[in-house]
Amino acid sequence: MSNRTAKIAVSILMLIGVAILALAATGNLNIEPQDLPERTTRESAATPTPTPPAESSTTASSVEWLRLLPDLVEPPYTGGLRRWPSTSSLPAIRSTDLSVYEGRSLADKPLAGVTVILDAGHGGQDSGTLYPTSPSNPVIVEKDINLAVALKAGDRLRELGADVVMTRETDEWLSIYKRIAIAGQYAVNHFIDELPSYGYKSEAIENLVPLLKDIFDINSDLVSDGGRGFLYGYGSRPEARLLFDIQAQYPEVLFISLHCNAYVGDSRVRGLQVYYQTNEGNYKAATRGAENPAETPPVYTGMDDAGRLRLATALRERILKQLPALKFNGHSDLLIADYAVLRNINLVSVLVEMGFVTSPHDREILLSNESQEKIAVGIAEAVYQYYCR
Ligand SMILES: [Zn+2]
Repeated sequence: MSNRTAKIAVSILMLIGVAILALAATGNLNIEPQDLPERTTRESAATPTPTPPAESSTTASSVEWLRLLPDLVEPPYTGGLRRWPSTSSLPAIRSTDLSVYEGRSLADKPLAGVTVILDAGHGGQDSGTLYPTSPSNPVIVEKDINLAVALKAGDRLRELGADVVMTRETDEWLSIYKRIAIAGQYAVNHFIDELPSYGYKSEAIENLVPLLKDIFDINSDLVSDGGRGFLYGYGSRPEARLLFDIQAQYPEVLFISLHCNAYVGDSRVRGLQVYYQTNEGNYKAATRGAENPAETPPVYTGMDDAGRLRLATALRERILKQLPALKFNGHSDLLIADYAVLRNINLVSVLVEMGFVTSPHDREILLSNESQEKIAVGIAEAVYQYYCR
């Protein structure tokens, strides 16, 4: 397939995926998770192929399946918040070798095999932050800037060979937890698809499908109507741990959320900030928030701390290289934060605050098509730096 044909095929498949998502959002279609946009260039690209474990000599056609039984036994309570063991509840079925990306040239589709889930923050009735804050006639509306940059970044990433999944491509509202469910379904669906080729089957993993579908369909950030599903509250329930352990087996998939900042008290505060989460940050946040430690599920400890910091650093470096004027003028532009998209997604997940709508200096940058394009190039180059440098 020529590059052009491949691009068209990818675009058509993405459009079909988006159409299905749109129908699902209006309730006209009973969406199944496998209807989510699939990685379409994976097979055609020189991607790292996970090696089946030695014991899985069984083939997909064999009746002798290896049963995948995750180890989800909660550790006993001994005071304070508990932690899940740092070892995965699952064997490393896919062992993706990221070293195949090292040294690839920018000119040669270096990100073929990589998927980036781009999350344009807010949308629909949720405008995000506004300037001026009165909603009657704002000069700048966060949700629009987020989407404009996300769409441009998606184009730049595809040019580098990456597959891109957009949580939204239009001015639509979706809950934070639906964004999280999109990232969850992506990994779970791929894992279920891949398990047979390694000789495994697992009811435990299939059980996650309806749980994620509920979050997706309910599309609410409330606990009361089930919008947060099994991901509500502090700590991680066994199902959440299983989901996170599955996502941990997809190091070639990233989640990047795009936002704009506001600092109402001081219009001089300006510049780019990048947020990420760590295992320790997650534990501290849960300790602050959990009212009853004995009844709080154990805190997850399997985040890729180094990967998150590395992606956050690359995003800062590469965006500032494109747009030095976005340099933050406060004391820290790399920050640990307890955001739901960082806590409840165990892909390498980072949130970018692209500038302050309260700063006249940043507003000029954020509203400029040319500057948005530069931020998008910076995001794509950061992903390139993350995998290839
Ligand atoms: Zn925001």
